[in-house]
Amino acid sequence: ATPTALLVGTGRGAQLGVLIKGPEVLESTRKVDTIVLDKTGTVTTGRMSLVHVVPADGTGADEALRLAATLENASEHPIAAAIAAGATDLDMVLGTVTHFANTPGRGVTGCVEGRRVLAGRASWLAGEGLAVPPELASAVDEAEAAGRTAVTVGWDGSARAVLVVSDTLKPTSAQAISQFRKLGLTPILLTGDNTRAAQAVAAPLKITDVIAEVLPEEKVAVITRLQGEGRVVAMVGDGVNDAAALAQADLGLSMGTGTDAAIEASDLTLVRGDLRSAADAIRLARRTLSTIK
Ligand code: ADP
Ligand code: MG
Repeated sequence: ATPTALLVGTGRGAQLGVLIKGPEVLESTRKVDTIVLDKTGTVTTGRMSLVHVVPADGTGADEALRLAATLENASEHPIAAAIAAGATDLDMVLGTVTHFANTPGRGVTGCVEGRRVLAGRASWLAGEGLAVPPELASAVDEAEAAGRTAVTVGWDGSARAVLVVSDTLKPTSAQAISQFRKLGLTPILLTGDNTRAAQAVAAPLKITDVIAEVLPEEKVAVITRLQGEGRVVAMVGDGVNDAAALAQADLGLSMGTGTDAAIEASDLTLVRGDLRSAADAIRLARRTLSTIK
């Protein structure tokens, strides 16, 4: 992603690893009292890894992984990268996918080896008419209880396996969040992922406000609701699904490591994808607003 064409960096901001769209951004930067943080790719590395595969009775784990990985190869989601890497690490040869379609916040589908394969939330597969056998429902439950993300894969009318992926906190997230608190900001974790995976990320950061299982199109409404409570809201995100919420927030911050859509929708870009530079930028704005105006 190349944010530079769009953005005007102020000298000091650039030094801090922050690109600011224009001087008017500093006013809202100074006033924010709430900071909404997207989970995957913002607070966590977004480099997920495949932990294990739980096949349904009668399904081969390898076949399920190969079909899912072939399908996910066409997706840009961090979950997709984990699944594709998990397969290639096992020297699997991935085929081609046709009729690929992404349903944001739910999953992906496409035609692989003559089958219509789906991978995503179990509830989404069920809504698409696939039966979810009890051993897979428990695998989903177990993975989520452990703070992980479960991707259910299925074809021919039935869910066939659960692929368990996990994400890790960025080493800088804890520091950044304690700096936000020192600046008087209330941190809120916002994610499309399951509640328990969200809490597993929030707990070590001592974040108590967690809004999980939010569909991409609902993220904007969360920001609007917080603004309705009289809060001045900063939102930090990296994904295509964060763009509308970033635009709605009083201050939208994107990760320089994130998608172009997020960068374009934001007021300020954290060049290195380091959340601590958001705290630095807010501190800088509060300190120097008068000298810049
Ligand atoms: P976040 O808000 O954390 O960035 P998303 O809104 O992108 O999360 O995704 C929410 C959920 O939708 C994921 O946790 C996953 O269950 C499902 N999902 C989204 N994209 C995919 C995909 N490419 N493959 C499998 N599952 C997906
Ligand atoms: Mg994200």
